[in-house]
Amino acid sequence: MTGRTGRPPLNRRLAEFGTTVFAEMSALAARTGSINLGQGFPDADGPEEVREAAVRALRDGRGNQYPPGPGIPELRSAISDHQRLRYGLEWDADTEVLVTAGATEAIAASLLALVEPGDEVIALEPYYDSYAAGIAMAGGARVPVTLRPRDGAYRLDLDELRDAVTDRTRLILLNTPHNPTGTVLSREELAAVAELAVERDLLVVTDEVYEHLVFDGEHVPIATLPGMRERTVTISSAGKTFSFTGWKVGWVTGSRELVAAVRSAKQYLTFVSAGPFQYAVAEALRLPDSYFEEFRTDMRAKRELLADGLEQAGFKVFRPAGTYFITTDIRPLGETDGFAFCRALPERAGVVAIPNAVFYDHKRTGAPYVRFAFCKRTEVLAEATERLRKAFEH
Ligand SMILES: *Cc1c(COP(=O)(O)O)cnc(C)c1O
Repeated sequence: MTGRTGRPPLNRRLAEFGTTVFAEMSALAARTGSINLGQGFPDADGPEEVREAAVRALRDGRGNQYPPGPGIPELRSAISDHQRLRYGLEWDADTEVLVTAGATEAIAASLLALVEPGDEVIALEPYYDSYAAGIAMAGGARVPVTLRPRDGAYRLDLDELRDAVTDRTRLILLNTPHNPTGTVLSREELAAVAELAVERDLLVVTDEVYEHLVFDGEHVPIATLPGMRERTVTISSAGKTFSFTGWKVGWVTGSRELVAAVRSAKQYLTFVSAGPFQYAVAEALRLPDSYFEEFRTDMRAKRELLADGLEQAGFKVFRPAGTYFITTDIRPLGETDGFAFCRALPERAGVVAIPNAVFYDHKRTGAPYVRFAFCKRTEVLAEATERLRKAFEH
């Protein structure tokens, strides 16, 4: 707000997006010496050989000047191979792959490119915080479709999704595995989404940054389903898969036409980024299967450790099928307001978490839920669960 009474705020489209709760909670963590299970970043770096590949690129003078606009050819071909070998998706490395400044830029550029002012964008609520801002920057109207708890997991209500589509709907913004609920959309759910998209001639933008962090079930890229190849923009990133969230190397795959549209927005956002890191990520994507398996096994063990600890402390736990995160219900602890709970938690238990309400338009629906990240070292998770158990002992 501007304080200039009687005039609209300076940035009307973004007025609702002040500072994020992550900044507030991280500051609280620092001030109280708490364990920060709020923001989702690993506390240990990814594979040494990948880090070394970045050092080599820097030293050898590769990527220290502007890399090519669509990304370096080595990385585009590694992304194309990854999509083919893992999912059977064929993308031309020159025209159907685009390297971005993390998935965040890929999401923003896709929305800016494909959404016209007034278009409606359907997104799965609770949503990752950049979606609402990205839709607003594009001048779109967001239409939340709420994932609801059913049999211990959050599920998509396909009737609700169908009812949300109007003549002004431009695209469906998907996220699977889903942050913050940990839900992995099933093949059946995705098939229904795909059918709807084809029937109503909608585009789908799908955020799959946790594609390698599925613990139960399988990751199905919606682009593999009938009729979806030409109407889907698929987004992923190296940050979560290789535990280098600071590098901000992401990518888009899709038809030549869609990728060209996204590129036209992307080139005026950052143009290019992360030159030397692109070389390192090209090598990372070619790591043997054992890397991806060990990573998943390790993260599954962390999920168990934190989920068990939270249950013992008295939370209702939605054991996630994927991602870095566990959503909990605090009502069994006699609490109903996640915001108040998270503001008090550092003093009470020496742990920081995030109130899920920040990921909702329907704040009341999200009120009693709180998210914990488990992408932390085992000893840190053990200490956090110990603190929570002590704080909530009854
Ligand atoms: C972390 C995250 C991102 C951002 O990825 P970057 O590559 O760091 O920009 C995007 N979407 C979801 C769901 C995330 O959790």
